[in-house]
Amino acid sequence: MDWGLRSIRIRCRGYRESVICPKCKTDNAHRSHREGLKDYVVSLFQYYPYRCKECGIRFSELRRRPPETAKKPTSSEAEIRVTRASYRWKQKRREFLIYGSALLVFLGFIYYLTRDRGGSSGGE
Ligand SMILES: [Zn+2]
Repeated sequence: MDWGLRSIRIRCRGYRESVICPKCKTDNAHRSHREGLKDYVVSLFQYYPYRCKECGIRFSELRRRPPETAKKPTSSEAEIRVTRASYRWKQKRREFLIYGSALLVFLGFIYYLTRDRGGSSGGE
């Protein structure tokens, strides 16, 4: 039984991204949680928010995909890949819902604006 060890390994692999900070040029920047609409919008373009541990600024960076290893995957590695894939899919589904509802609100807003404008500028 090594379930604990396995989940720790997954977490380590998922959070081992490090990015150079644009301000202090250290590589102490790491993935940050998405906060607010802007972070969700930029993540549409594969940009993800990072936070620098050194100076504390937040910035968006093009997400770096982990290089696919060419060597034959072991059974535990394949298992990790499946776990990560299902986790990613769950996340994507949640993002879809968020984007979908945001789009609906946006379209409703546009509809409201155009309707309002058409009614008021019709006269004269
Ligand atoms: Zn910094």
